Amino acid sequence: MTTYTLQYKVKLTILRGEYMGMCFGVRDAISLAKEVVKSRPLTVLGELVHNANVLEELRDRGVRFEDQPDAVETETVMITAHGASNRARTRAHRGGLTLKDATCPLVHYAHKQVRNLVAAGYHPVIIGRHGHVEVRGLTEDLLESNVVLSKEEIDALDSRPRFGVVAQTTQPVVRVRSLVEHLRARFPEAEVCFVDTVCQPTKQRQDAAETLAKQSDIILVVGGANSNNTHELARTCRRFCGRVYHVQGPDDIRSEWLPKAGTLGITAGTSTPDHLINAVETRVRELA
Ligand code: SF4
Repeated sequence: MTTYTLQYKVKLTILRGEYMGMCFGVRDAISLAKEVVKSRPLTVLGELVHNANVLEELRDRGVRFEDQPDAVETETVMITAHGASNRARTRAHRGGLTLKDATCPLVHYAHKQVRNLVAAGYHPVIIGRHGHVEVRGLTEDLLESNVVLSKEEIDALDSRPRFGVVAQTTQPVVRVRSLVEHLRARFPEAEVCFVDTVCQPTKQRQDAAETLAKQSDIILVVGGANSNNTHELARTCRRFCGRVYHVQGPDDIRSEWLPKAGTLGITAGTSTPDHLINAVETRVRELA
């Protein structure tokens, strides 16, 4: 844990999570987009990163964003770090588009594990958020699959002799393991093969957030409003700290949140750039 201790008249100590902020997969995707758009018009399919500030900076550089391939007006499109199904890639190729692929290697790993499980005869179950772009990419090529995120959804599954389970890379591993155990208990006759596809940066950030929350009186979680892993970090912090605020940037911080004294922890999702985390800390200093 890297500790920054700032003494104010009010004796507020600021701690940062040992691991937090942008992961290598998102950094690489942003770098690729910046590089490609220098030489040709580029459209990114979906949100490259769940952070409004970063998206605005990319738009300023000329990067366009579209959800549907049909709406793309440039010849070159980019797949985000969240990945895409082969079906989506083929659709884009058939439409005459040139693909730039920023899929994170750890998302590629999850795709490979699903394919292996299906080839070995397991019915695929993905523990993840319904409709999330990564989960859509993992399931779109499959003849059949189930996406679950609760015990109730597991209870509602049809019985199968063999279940092959993977997880969306940004799910908290504690939740994933608990749901796998529930699946085993719900279908005791079935063979359940679980491959842990939660990525290492997510695990590190979750563990660090837990440690931070146990030491803090108040936590600020910095990240985009629609960032799944930021919401998950906030959820983890709330298990150990009574006052947790999800902020998108320094302007969201309200002075009445800040304690007169004590410890304030800062953590951030994998889409959050360093300059935004620094700006949040600076704002806390000003308000304190
Ligand atoms: S959160 Fe994990 S899987 Fe997703 S881009 Fe970052 S490192 Fe890759």
